[in-house]
Amino acid sequence: DTAVLEQIKETIQQKHVELLHLQFVDIEGILKHVTVTVEQLDDVVNGKIMFDGSSIKGFSPINKSDLYLLPDLNTFAVLPWTVEEGYSEARFLCSVMNPDATRFEGDPRNVLKKTVERAAQQGYTISVGPELEFFLFKTDEHGNPTTQTQDNGGYFEPSPKDLGERVRLEIYRALKAMGFKIEASHHEVAEGQHEINFKYADALGSADNATTYKWVVKTIASKYGLHATFMPKPVFGINGSGMHVNMSLFKDGENAFFDPSDENQLSETAYQFIAGLLKNVKSFAAVTNPLVNSYKRLVPGYEAPCYIAWSASNRSALIRIPAKRGVATRVELRCPDPAANPYLAFAVIAAAGLDGIEKALKAPAPIDEDIFHMTEERREELGIENLPASLGDAVSEFVNGTIGRQTLGNHVFDEYVAMKNEEWNSYRTAVHTWELEQYQGKF
Ligand code: GLN
Ligand code: MG
Ligand code: MG
Ligand code: MG
Repeated sequence: DTAVLEQIKETIQQKHVELLHLQFVDIEGILKHVTVTVEQLDDVVNGKIMFDGSSIKGFSPINKSDLYLLPDLNTFAVLPWTVEEGYSEARFLCSVMNPDATRFEGDPRNVLKKTVERAAQQGYTISVGPELEFFLFKTDEHGNPTTQTQDNGGYFEPSPKDLGERVRLEIYRALKAMGFKIEASHHEVAEGQHEINFKYADALGSADNATTYKWVVKTIASKYGLHATFMPKPVFGINGSGMHVNMSLFKDGENAFFDPSDENQLSETAYQFIAGLLKNVKSFAAVTNPLVNSYKRLVPGYEAPCYIAWSASNRSALIRIPAKRGVATRVELRCPDPAANPYLAFAVIAAAGLDGIEKALKAPAPIDEDIFHMTEERREELGIENLPASLGDAVSEFVNGTIGRQTLGNHVFDEYVAMKNEEWNSYRTAVHTWELEQYQGKF
């Protein structure tokens, strides 16, 4: 740690860092930060910076509100868009601590750490590669987002059709300067939709990266007068935005999902992990698909899953096994969307897979047919169930399941359920434009 700190001090000198942003996320995964001057670096690294936990939704009650920020030194990064001659700003991602220096239970980052430690007790490290899609929308004369996409490009379309290319290039440069290893960048299927892929990392590192990525994408887009959104289904009738989560387990430095002697080159552990995901997905969907709007993406015909099945290559299945083997052997879970809190999402997904391993669950046969075009009878025959159809259903499953409370802990679980029930009730009782259009004239 002293070596890392020395390196940070050197960068601060070289880049003339003047301000430090201390960042963390709330229960919904929304990024927060407090900015201090670089003269306070010692206090910062010693976890002495305090804030009011009662002002962060779902954190702490007003009578026990003092919380502290403990930066993770590995997340130090100079913010490329702040750099001027003789001036720049940097950030740290932080864990939230109680006044007695124990971990604060309400911090999603601490929740994921607990799951990582649980996996480690069984000898596993969790590897995660998320793919976050987003839309770029035009803003109006007041700077508010519209639902007009910025171009009409499609999958892999180059410029001049792809008007997001310049924006993506700048996002790429910013992320790279912040230490990301970027693997690919492309226009997605829907008009105005994009994806930039960064290299997989351990679960905590990937959740940090996903959080940073969303912030950087939004920040750079706004420089172009555009609004970037990770809302799952912003426009009816075209693809929504997913956050596919590629996950694998490593044991003794080897990929525990790979077995060259198996017909699919998958290990027993991989099959059990898949079985655990299939068994538990309904009860963790409230975390991986957190919004009312999330369930408008999970409908047939838009490359997003709605049926609970796995396959080697099928993009209509919930779980796909990408063709890569060896160290790159992994399962791709396709239901999560980028509105999910990545810390909580990776925690419940890993917990669900580990549950399959602990209970030595058997995976059902893979489904290689196109499930979107199957009859209901055929799906029933094959035992293919549906994902929850609404946030309301998902929250009920979440409350009745065991993964949620076990993985998130009482604090986050109770706050999350309360928050999501309120959100669902507010939506359920609101009168929507669709209803007026359909009913007001006719009845
Ligand atoms: N946008 C699709 C989704 O909602 C995924 C499309 C793709 O990456 N092939 O998950
Ligand atoms: Mg992708
Ligand atoms: Mg994609
Ligand atoms: Mg994918």
